[in-house]
Order: sequence, then structure tokens, then C-alpha cells
Amino acid sequence: MIIKQNQDEIQSYLEDASNFRSGRAEALYVPEDEAEIVQAVVECSREKIPLTINGGGTGTVAGRIPVGGRILTVEKLDRILSIESERKQASLQAGVLVDNFLKLLKKDSLFYPPFPTERTAFISGNASTNASGEYSYYFGPTRRYVERLKVVLSDGEIVEIRRGETFADRDGFCKIGSKKVKIPSYATPDIKCSAGYFCRPGMDAIDLFIGSEGTLGIFTEVDVSLIPALPNRVIMVFFFENVGARFIAPAGRINPTPTSEGRLFEFLSAVKNDKALSALTLEYFDSHSLDFLRPDFPNIPECRFALYVEALESSLEKWLDLLEGYPIVDTWVGQDAKSYQTLIDFRHRLPENINAYFKKIGSQKVSLDFAVPEDRFPELYAYYQNVRETNTDVETILFGHIGENHLHFNYFPKDQQEKERVSRLYEEAARKVISMGGTIAAEHGIGKLKHKYLEMMYGKEGILQMAAVKKILDPACILGLDNIFPRTLL
Ligand SMILES: Cc1cc2nc3c(=O)[nH]c(=O)nc-3n(C[C@H](O)[C@H](O)[C@H](O)COP(=O)(O)OP(=O)(O)OC[C@H]3O[C@@H](n4cnc5c(N)ncnc54)[C@H](O)[C@@H]3O)c2cc1C
Repeated sequence: MIIKQNQDEIQSYLEDASNFRSGRAEALYVPEDEAEIVQAVVECSREKIPLTINGGGTGTVAGRIPVGGRILTVEKLDRILSIESERKQASLQAGVLVDNFLKLLKKDSLFYPPFPTERTAFISGNASTNASGEYSYYFGPTRRYVERLKVVLSDGEIVEIRRGETFADRDGFCKIGSKKVKIPSYATPDIKCSAGYFCRPGMDAIDLFIGSEGTLGIFTEVDVSLIPALPNRVIMVFFFENVGARFIAPAGRINPTPTSEGRLFEFLSAVKNDKALSALTLEYFDSHSLDFLRPDFPNIPECRFALYVEALESSLEKWLDLLEGYPIVDTWVGQDAKSYQTLIDFRHRLPENINAYFKKIGSQKVSLDFAVPEDRFPELYAYYQNVRETNTDVETILFGHIGENHLHFNYFPKDQQEKERVSRLYEEAARKVISMGGTIAAEHGIGKLKHKYLEMMYGKEGILQMAAVKKILDPACILGLDNIFPRTLL
């Protein structure tokens, strides 16, 4: 097996898309097959050396970045083992690049819906973060598509878990290989969520591993279900006019008089309740986001915000009918290949432009990944607006997955003082979201950056119950240390 110890060769494995810069490791394992993975993990278990698993490195919460010990990359396990058109299933080795997989599926007129926007992620990274993609409003997250996982546990035991085969019993115990774990007693909220171990009464054992962020075992193979290639689609961007009163009245309450936002929520409700509109993606951009896109798209009109929608082309007429009566100042439609691609670029350009600008001014993004149940969303939206208006000196941008009641509220603190304030605002917002039955991690996971908020969500007892699950499945307590909860709890 290849083992690298030269720090220059290891350096790039100590980073991901977060700003976490404390990564360090003494060695990197580059196994070429499952047997070598077993060899590496057994060696680390025996010597009690922490081992952190590396996927494609696109995670945003430092999950793959070790703080000491060794790293194992699954990059050499990159074979697509099978694509079964009839059964609509594929079997992949852990290190398959999502982009390669999607390209191959295209040839067979098949599709894998939950891929994240960043396609250089590995399929195992997606499964271990329960990633959601641009179509998750309609198709849901990775969890819904994982049918089988092959996992190497830290003592070298190999377990295969198939969906529909093993469930938690009435007392909450679940058998996994030779081990038996007690499922924690909290229930993961029934909304878009990737916060800690998934737990529900009577749950399928496979769901415990999906979203476990490299803490329970090393995935070596992932089987996923597929759907037929999507029919022709159209992308539309609706620019909502700046009309009506302010959305928030004094004391941060929602203004009862007509507002652009009130009309937006009406519009969203109409879209969600009409299946014939066949919306696959529903995304929101505030006016500040649009400012970041203007250099590339100078014809963006003056407006309050924009809604980005992808839907089946066959529904276009119905969409145009729906628009009547809404305060929409302009509508862009991407229907042919070129204009469709332009609007895809429009959506993807935003994070790139934001990151480039704030890197230039030396600020680091603090991004909220919160989601709430549908009926609480207007309240959360008003809360964000109020925070903005009472902290006008801190730059903020609000955009994201409005169809799933999941917006990314991003702060850009300029100095230490602002950083401290933003940290307080983050905590207050987390409390608010939790009190609404929401989640503090809708798609990016917890990693090493959000322990405090996960504890706010499930309480100390919930976190200790997660640690107890880990101690059974990873008896040497070496895998993915400091992901989800601090290693001091083990
Ligand atoms: C520009 C950009 C856009 C993004 N868009 C989205 C989006 O739309 N939706 C979304 O959900 N996320 C998004 N992300 C985040 C990221 O792409 C996902 O979290 C992705 O699933 C991470 O996969 P990865 O292979 O890069 O994992 P890594 O970052 O390498 O690792 C992530 C975690 O998975 C664990 N892991 C990796 N491989 C294994 C394995 N074989 N066994 C066990 N554990 C393993 C690691 O230990 C780590 O804890 C985006 C990121 C960027 C940079």
C-alpha cells in the first residue's frame, strides 16, 4: 500500500472548502482496495492512532481535515462497478467522482438526482454528509437514493447494509454486523437535515451511516437508485418588483400590509400546491446577491429579489399564466441549450463571485445552513431581515433553497469586533431556528465547526447518546475524531 509521509505530499489533503486551517497529519494512506483499507484501519486501531477519511475535499465543515493522526483517502477506489438500466441501480466504489458518474449515466439515459452543486465530490462524501443538490426541492437528499453501503469498521469488520433489511427494534436496538447499538432517543426533524446521526423510532440501520461524517466506518462501496433521464427543462428567473411596504414592521414583526415578500410567499405556495407546474428547483437571491452578479449579467433589473426556478419544459405555458397578478418586473427564460446554460451559470456564478470579492477584502464568510418547517419560514425570513436592519454595518447576503425553507444567510465580518458580534448573532439565530423545530445544519453537516449548535439542538444527552453509538461501532475510537462532537466525549 502507498503510505505518504512527506508533508508536501500530504498538504492538499489537509484542506476542504471550509476556512479551517489547523489540519495536521503524520501520514497518508492511499489504499488501492478494501483489503488495504482493512490493513490501515486495523493498524491504527491497534496503536490507537486517529484516522480521518478523505473524500473529494469539497465539504464545508472541515470533516475530512484531521487534527493529528493519519489520513486515508479513498481516491483509488474509483470504479463504477455496475449500472443496471432495468433495475435503475448503480454500484460504485467510494471514490467515484460524482461528475464522472453523471456523465456516464447520461449515455444510458439515466439520472442520479441528489448530486451536490460541486461535482468534484466523491459519492462516499455525498453519502457521509447526506448531501443535497439543486434538485433536492423535488427529489430530496442523498439519503433517499442510497440502497446499500459496504463499510469497514475500525476493528476491520466489514459490514454490508442494505436498505429494507435491518431496522431498530422496539427497544431502539439495531444489529449491525456483530455489533448491537442503541439508537439515540431524539428524533431527527422531518425537514431537510444533515445534523448529527439520523434517528427515528424503528429506523433502517442504513440511515444511521448516511450523514455520519466519517465517524462510524469507512464506506468502500455505495449502491444508489436512479431515475430515467429528466425530460427537457426550462429555467426561469423572476425579478420581483420593489413594491409595497417593508416586510418587517416595528419590533421585527411581519407587516400585515402588502409587501413584495408577502406576494413571494403566496407565489411559492401556489407553485408548491400545483403539481402541474412541475417545479424541480426553487431558489432565492436577495438584491445584494444580484449586485454580485451584475458585473457578469448587467441587464439584471432593479428589484427587491429574484426567484430562480427550473421546471419541466412542458409546463412553461402554465408558468406564464401564473405570473399574471404578481409584482414581477422582468422574467428571464432559458429554454434552448444556450440560454439554459447561461442561467445555470447565473446560479453558479454567485458563490464564486462572493468568495472572490471577500477574499480580496480579507473577510471570511460565516454562513448559516438553517432550515425550518414550512409554516415557520416567513417568520424566519422576517427574523433575518430584522437582524440585517439592526446590524447594517456588517455585510450580509441571503440566498438559497427557498423551496425547502432553507436559505443561506451569510455574514462577512471585517474585523475581530464584528466577528464576535456575528458569533453572537449566529447563536441567537440558532436558538430561534431550534425553537421553531428547525435544524442548524440542513445540508452541510456538523464537522468540526458546529458542535455547539448541535448540542443546542439535541441537548447534552443527545450528544452523549451519539457518542455511545460511536463507541460500539468504532471500539478504538479513532475514526473522524472531532466530527459531529468533540473527541473528549469518547
Ligand atoms: C462550490 C460548492 C458547492 C457545494 N454545493 C453543495 C450543495 O449543493 N449541496 C450540498 O449538500 N453540499 C454542497 N457542497 C458541499 C460538498 O460538496 C458536499 O458536502 C459533499 O458531499 C462532500 O463530498 P466530498 O467527497 O468532497 O467529501 P469530503 O469533503 O472529502 O468529506 C466530507 C465528509 O465525508 C467523510 N467521508 C468521505 N469519504 C468517506 C468514506 N469513504 N467513508 C466514510 N466517510 C467518508 C469525510 O471524513 C468527511 O467527514 C458544496 C461545496 C462547494 C465547495
